[in-house]
Amino acid sequence: MATTVDVMWAYIDRAMLLYKDRKLTPEEAAKVKFWATEREWELLDLGVQLHGGYGYMLEYPIARAWTDARVHRIYGGTNEVMREIVARQVTGRK
Ligand SMILES: Cc1cc2nc3c(=O)[nH]c(=O)nc-3n(C[C@H](O)[C@H](O)[C@H](O)COP(=O)(O)OP(=O)(O)OC[C@H]3O[C@@H](n4cnc5c(N)ncnc54)[C@H](O)[C@@H]3O)c2cc1C
Repeated sequence: MATTVDVMWAYIDRAMLLYKDRKLTPEEAAKVKFWATEREWELLDLGVQLHGGYGYMLEYPIARAWTDARVHRIYGGTNEVMREIVARQVTGRK
């Protein structure tokens, strides 16, 4: 989990630097959005599992973080649509 967080930060930081320099393309942004939110979901799911039954109870912060994170794969453009943006670039299709 720690390794995934490290890699995720490096990837997000790179995108932020590109954005700052006005070089972040829609395709690169789409890659970061779907990839980071899916890693986030996996990490929080592991966190819930780690806490056992307590991890599922909304009294515990991990349960609320897990619930909140679910929408990250939906809003800001769904991850399916982000993948389509990337796929169009990779295949050269408009
Ligand atoms: C809490 C919250 C806050 C939001 N805030 C904002 C905001 O501030 N500004 C704003 O503009 N919008 C906002 N939204 C809207 C959000 O961006 C949309 O919900 C999101 O883009 C998905 O659109 P939709 O809900 O119409 O789902 P739909 O487009 O109906 O998609 C339904 C499902 O079909 C899939 N799907 C759709 N098209 C394709 C395709 N071509 N290929 C494969 N799968 C596909 C989707 O991935 C999804 O799983 C917010 C949504 C939520 C839940």
